[in-house]
Amino acid sequence: MELIKLKKKIAIIGAGWFGCHIAHQLKKLNKFDIKLYEKEKDIFLGASSNNQNRLHLGFHYPRSKETRLQSKNGFDKFLKHYSFLTKKIKYNIYGISDSPETFLDYDTFLQIMKSEKLKFKEIDSYKKFKILGLSGSILTNERLVDDYKSKLFFKRKLKNIIKTKKNIKSIKKINRRYLIEDKLYDYIINCTYFQEFVKHKDIKFEVTSSIIYKAKNNFPALTIMDGPFFTIYPYRKNLYNIYSVEHSRFGLNKDIKKVRQKMNNVINNPSFLHGKRKKIEKIISKYYPLFQKEFKFKKYLVTIRTINNTKFADRSFKIFFKDGFINVFSGKIDHITNASDRILKYLK
Ligand SMILES: Cc1cc2nc3c(=O)[nH]c(=O)nc-3n(C[C@H](O)[C@H](O)[C@H](O)COP(=O)(O)OP(=O)(O)OC[C@H]3O[C@@H](n4cnc5c(N)ncnc54)[C@H](O)[C@@H]3O)c2cc1C
Repeated sequence: MELIKLKKKIAIIGAGWFGCHIAHQLKKLNKFDIKLYEKEKDIFLGASSNNQNRLHLGFHYPRSKETRLQSKNGFDKFLKHYSFLTKKIKYNIYGISDSPETFLDYDTFLQIMKSEKLKFKEIDSYKKFKILGLSGSILTNERLVDDYKSKLFFKRKLKNIIKTKKNIKSIKKINRRYLIEDKLYDYIINCTYFQEFVKHKDIKFEVTSSIIYKAKNNFPALTIMDGPFFTIYPYRKNLYNIYSVEHSRFGLNKDIKKVRQKMNNVINNPSFLHGKRKKIEKIISKYYPLFQKEFKFKKYLVTIRTINNTKFADRSFKIFFKDGFINVFSGKIDHITNASDRILKYLK
């Protein structure tokens, strides 16, 4: 008599970049029975669609070697899977401010990036783009992730396993399995951006609000490191996403409920966001005096970010395994392939 091997059952909670990519990798193996639960009416409505969509190579993290290494290595692996979901950026500039507020001088920045063997070219940003106030700047090959195309891709690939409008409130353990609704699972993969079912002493949450502007003319991607500065990053056609380290984040707290409340307050208080936007525009105008003439405000993207609140700006991913319950602490978007490799190894 032939024995039928039953497929192990896996529930993934949260359909952003991490949940969708992990579900897609597991589905391709055809060895598991998978469900992907999402509380919203659609996938990719959390951080995965409300971020700057930079495919990181490591330049953004002069203070965290682990984040640089995961980004450098994750970048190539991400492109092997999803290069069609990314775009090249013609001029992608990192600059170091000449103000005393900078945490880092230009030479140290260059030294760190050279020691990581990251490829870049020095550029005179003033001559090329009329950007002032920098002690130096470089061009990098970091790319743009198309979050909208990515969402459509995963909706197509995962259509039989996604269950939207399913807010998973509790997961009961029964013997060695986990009960969700009326179904028992062998494994749970928690991809809620560490916002449900798990607590960690270093983890905090904050509301973030990046701002979308329409540009009259092409502008480079511009990131001013490392201190209370800003990034102007391409978003969609003629649109740019602007984020300020000082004025785009609010309400840092260990308690996710308080941060959700803060997010509701922020969304319902246009004058609060307007005030922050004016401050950001003032800072940008110091470095790019043509800003007000060239850029027109369109909308805010508000979401909650989960952060590892250590002083080294560690943004690397981490995964915690316990009795078949897998908690994913998301790092950067291009860390997803390393995260899924680690999970596959565990499941084997
Ligand atoms: C302002 C900002 C800028 C950023 N910029 C970049 C960048 O340029 N490059 C980069 O690589 N990274 C960036 N990041 C980080 C990046 O966005 C995140 O690391 C990534 O999107 C996390 O993906 P995720 O799938 O873990 O989380 P999410 O996309 O938030 O997905 C989690 C999902 O879980 C769902 N969920 C939560 N609770 C439940 C529940 N109980 N039941 C069912 N579903 C649930 C949520 O609705 C959500 O859809 C940025 C983040 C922010 C906030």
